[in-house]
Amino acid sequence: MSDIAGNIIAVKKQIPSHVKLVAVSKLKPPEDIREAYNFGHKIFGENRVHELTGKAVILPDDVEWHFIGHLQSNKVKFIVPFVHMIQSVDSFKLLKVINKEAYKNSRVIDCLLQFYIAKEETKYGFSPEEAAEMLQSDEFRELMNVRICGVMGMASFVDDQEQVRNEFINLRNIFQILKDEYFSGNKEFKEISMGMSGDYKIAVEEGSTIIRLGTMIFTKMS
Ligand SMILES: *Cc1c(COP(=O)(O)O)cnc(C)c1O
Repeated sequence: MSDIAGNIIAVKKQIPSHVKLVAVSKLKPPEDIREAYNFGHKIFGENRVHELTGKAVILPDDVEWHFIGHLQSNKVKFIVPFVHMIQSVDSFKLLKVINKEAYKNSRVIDCLLQFYIAKEETKYGFSPEEAAEMLQSDEFRELMNVRICGVMGMASFVDDQEQVRNEFINLRNIFQILKDEYFSGNKEFKEISMGMSGDYKIAVEEGSTIIRLGTMIFTKMS
């Protein structure tokens, strides 16, 4: 068995079956993705537009591509034909552009709202206030080509496990408030994407439904 397949098995043993594993394949060659694919794993995450499109055209059509990086509005059109879910929607402006491009492609695109939960200045994302303002607007209700499926966030890169746990709890609370106030009765709003190689165990304990793992999946023994 390949290292990558072994890594996938090892991770899946540690997480409940309802938690979805996105294998973050950024900076990894298509051969590595194919190794995971041949083993039966078909869900991959990329954070750069041209890397995603370049890989999407050479890999099989049934790969489920998740976009997880900061997305510039003028590049949305390149990924819309290929992407399964855009996890990193961090502004109303971006969501409107995704809606417009999805309409042109006769698609409805699954999206997560990215929230800023870390104590680090470099991270993107909505504040709860910004999200509330968007979700209350008439303009938002007119978007027919995006499906808001939940929230995404990245914890701080720190050793302090309690801080990381508190940031994940914060994201889960944001999810719950949005669900109660804006998406009650909406079965599609159900995902909390949190947890990376260094912190996915804590994330799963705190209610993650999607984990995004790069290093853990693609690091080879040799
Ligand atoms: C790179 C990346 C990951 C995966 O990080 P690892 O530490 O390699 O697991 C997850 N989420 C986002 C948004 C990333 O950019």
